[in-house]
Amino acid sequence: MSASLPTLDSLDVKNKTILIRCDFNVPMKDGEITEDVRIRSALVTLKELFDKGAKLLVVCSHLGRPKGQVVEELRLKAVGKRLAELLGRPVRALEESVGDNVKQVISQAEPGSLVLLENVRFHVGETKGDELLSQQFSELADCFVLDAFGTAHRAHSSVVGPTKLLPSAAGRLLQCEIENLGRLLERPESPFVTIVGGAKVSDKVEILENLMNISDIILIGGGMAYTFLKEQGHEVGNSLCEEDKLDLVKKLRVIAKEKNCELLFPVDHVVGKEFSNDTEILRNVKEIPKGYMGLDVGAETIKLYSERIRNAKTILWNGPMGVFEFDNFSKGTHEVGLSIQDSSAYSVVGGGDSVAAVKRFRLEKGMSHISTGGGASLEFLTGVILPGIEALTNNDISAQ
Ligand code: AMP
Repeated sequence: MSASLPTLDSLDVKNKTILIRCDFNVPMKDGEITEDVRIRSALVTLKELFDKGAKLLVVCSHLGRPKGQVVEELRLKAVGKRLAELLGRPVRALEESVGDNVKQVISQAEPGSLVLLENVRFHVGETKGDELLSQQFSELADCFVLDAFGTAHRAHSSVVGPTKLLPSAAGRLLQCEIENLGRLLERPESPFVTIVGGAKVSDKVEILENLMNISDIILIGGGMAYTFLKEQGHEVGNSLCEEDKLDLVKKLRVIAKEKNCELLFPVDHVVGKEFSNDTEILRNVKEIPKGYMGLDVGAETIKLYSERIRNAKTILWNGPMGVFEFDNFSKGTHEVGLSIQDSSAYSVVGGGDSVAAVKRFRLEKGMSHISTGGGASLEFLTGVILPGIEALTNNDISAQ
């Protein structure tokens, strides 16, 4: 971790009003929150701030992509309700996020309570990093805490803006992510095995190239494997395959060699006639027959990958090995997850779908760290300093 990252240890919060940028971008269905882990993850920081005598917490977040407009379904009201239940304190959810009305509510709020601002992305300036909007957020509080790791890779108004105007610090969730993911970048123990899966190669080209710098071995699975296999002359039938990326994957194989990183590909497959759980299935085939598509890795691949995982000292997992949402094609992902769980390596899982798989197969306890930020965790691992983290470490006011 950067030595100069200001944390809650260095922020004087007693009797202060604190603005906290959280990531409450939770999945919703019919106005109900279907998964509240992001709200739960924020509690550590919020409780610590109250324990340290903060007068009032003003919390802000985005939800979905309203694109600068008020979208009724993307209001944070339901989040406020859940937050109050989990925190055991009054939470007042506002229908605005800046301006005189908000200031007035804040000035009259009960000490020890929490004010939740409305979805910050209802303002068109938020995603543009608008400075006036940043100024308006900053006027609401005495200090700022950034705890939204999932958006720390975005230079948005409510993420980086207040760090330039208020004494600021990283919240405990952000700090925890930086410490854990930082461990993968700073002298990780070898062998470092990375498992990459998911649907498309094109989504992961950059990350693959970067992961070759830190990994000794990369195990490739999921839909993205078939573009690689096709380039190596294998039959892939109707599997996901990006024909226009064949040159690119060839180049990736060359780069891996140059970087002394071993790339492994599935040696057998579970294939189906159609993209459906109940389709006609062939198991453990080496070459994919015409009319079939690869939807999971086969038994020999599981054995091969599990052996590498067993010997690993550091593991990073991003992306499922197959269409794990379908029971009939979930074994590869489940077994790889179990092997990580059984290994004594330091293991990090990041990226939305692998985290969903970890939850589905109840593997949480077997992972050293489950990252809350998909895109942010991958961007962090490329070695670039995320805008939100940079803003915190760079600013003089942070040191107050
Ligand atoms: P990503 O968001 O790129 O990590 O992709 C995750 C998605 O890839 C999951 O929804 C999986 O169902 C899907 N996936 C994994 N393996 C395959 C495959 N062999 N064919 C099609 N989709 C796949």
